[in-house]
Amino acid sequence: MSQQPNQDPKPILINGEWVSGAAESFDSINPANGKVNYRLPIATQAQVDAAAAAAKAAAAQPAWRNMLPHARAQLLMRMADLIVEHGDEFARLQMQENGKVWAECKAQAASAASTFRYYAAVCETLGSEVTPSRGNYLSMTAYEPYGVVAAITPWNSPLTMEAQKVAPALAAGNAVILKPSEVTPSPALLLGKIGLEAGLPPGILNVLTGDGAVTGKALVQHRDVRMVSFTGGTATGRSIGMIAAERLIPVALELGGKSPHIVFEDANLEAAVENIMGGIFEGSGQSCVAGSRLFVQRSVHDKLLDLLVKRASAIKVDQPEAAGAQMGPIASFMHRDRIEQFVATAKAEGGQIALGGKRPDGAQYENGAYFLPTIITGLNNQATAVREEIFGPVLCVLPFDDEADLIAQANDSVYGLASGIWTANYQRAWRVARALETGLVWINTYKQLSISTPFGGFKDSGLGREKGIGGLRLYQQSKGIYWSMDPNNMG
Ligand code: NAD
Repeated sequence: MSQQPNQDPKPILINGEWVSGAAESFDSINPANGKVNYRLPIATQAQVDAAAAAAKAAAAQPAWRNMLPHARAQLLMRMADLIVEHGDEFARLQMQENGKVWAECKAQAASAASTFRYYAAVCETLGSEVTPSRGNYLSMTAYEPYGVVAAITPWNSPLTMEAQKVAPALAAGNAVILKPSEVTPSPALLLGKIGLEAGLPPGILNVLTGDGAVTGKALVQHRDVRMVSFTGGTATGRSIGMIAAERLIPVALELGGKSPHIVFEDANLEAAVENIMGGIFEGSGQSCVAGSRLFVQRSVHDKLLDLLVKRASAIKVDQPEAAGAQMGPIASFMHRDRIEQFVATAKAEGGQIALGGKRPDGAQYENGAYFLPTIITGLNNQATAVREEIFGPVLCVLPFDDEADLIAQANDSVYGLASGIWTANYQRAWRVARALETGLVWINTYKQLSISTPFGGFKDSGLGREKGIGGLRLYQQSKGIYWSMDPNNMG
């Protein structure tokens, strides 16, 4: 399957310099064909120390700390322009590392540029606050950066997540150490290069590749890292949260999900079907907000299932760069095997495979980590495939009787990231939206996202909200300043 690349590992970025020489390395593998893309270093404790020292010194530099918002915004705008300029390169790097189809990779590069533009605007708009006097003094709230922020990202939408952390953290005046997933390390390195090209001072954006056990953990534990922004699995997030609690530093945790997608009998079924497809099969279901639990009112259950099976059978699974490909491979062979195991467990627990449930046949799939769009029926809300995050193209369809039954089932999950409701009854839409224990609710749409709307989960799906104006405040701490106007104030 994989071949050894006859090249040294790519260098990593510390203090504006490209550094190599880590003792251990890992391979980035193309899941469409099993070939090695690159070899990359597992940044060592000494390299984490060097990045933290560089970031701490850079964050304290008056030229960075006191940079006028307008100048900071211009830097972010330059980064946005360079992301657009390098859009094809970003898309290609992501496609060959996580196997998403070309059109989606291109769209994610464009969206990362918009994130930088948005935080450039927020940076210029936001200021400190002076509250009206309550006595003979002024009180002011100043917002200050933490200093060094560690940003740790997953593999499913690497550049999107990296932009969502790096842009607001820089806008807030911090220095960042970015540690991308070992499955998709390359877009982060390109982002680091672009940062230097845009004129970020050395040490303000450092990029360390490596695994979680060595590089990630060393970062979270480092005394000079004053805030951690993490997106990834719930178990990892919990272990990071525990270290952060011990160190008394803030964390933002964007974690896993098992989102209920709900169809009432009065819904526009055709529109619902299109959105259910995108909600679970886009990106091969490797999305934190994947609508993986489909609850359908019993009276329209069989009709909707028929429409779904018909529509999902037509999804074109192919090499990610192939014309018209709608679903590429799973991001890694290990993850494909894990998905397969979930499907086997679902069958053992009484599930029926209405579609897929296996690898596709055909020469173009032979060396890749492919898995077909899969629809499973006949499971109840306690089944493993319904309770656990599969993070793959697997949709479990469950019937419900009425609103009360639906809400009880939908909320019976440790996760609470997102949900979707399809109904023509706006009062019911409102009631159900308010009753669902999720950080995001879509009504008669699914997976629509805006950078200005807070994003994050209830329950085990996370802590804190990214995006929006609050997404910048995540990376700042407030300071109350009281200034007496009374020359004779004796305290
Ligand atoms: P993961 O938790 O395995 O890894 C995420 C990152 O954490 C990687 O960079 C990894 O190297 C690092 N890491 C692992 N162990 C660590 C440790 N002990 N200390 C520090 N860093 C460590 O997750 P993944 O498999 O890369 O991503 C899939 C998960 O991410 C899914 O659960 C998905 O739902 C979630 N996700 C959530 C969101 C969201 O916004 N809520 C978005 C995308 C993905």
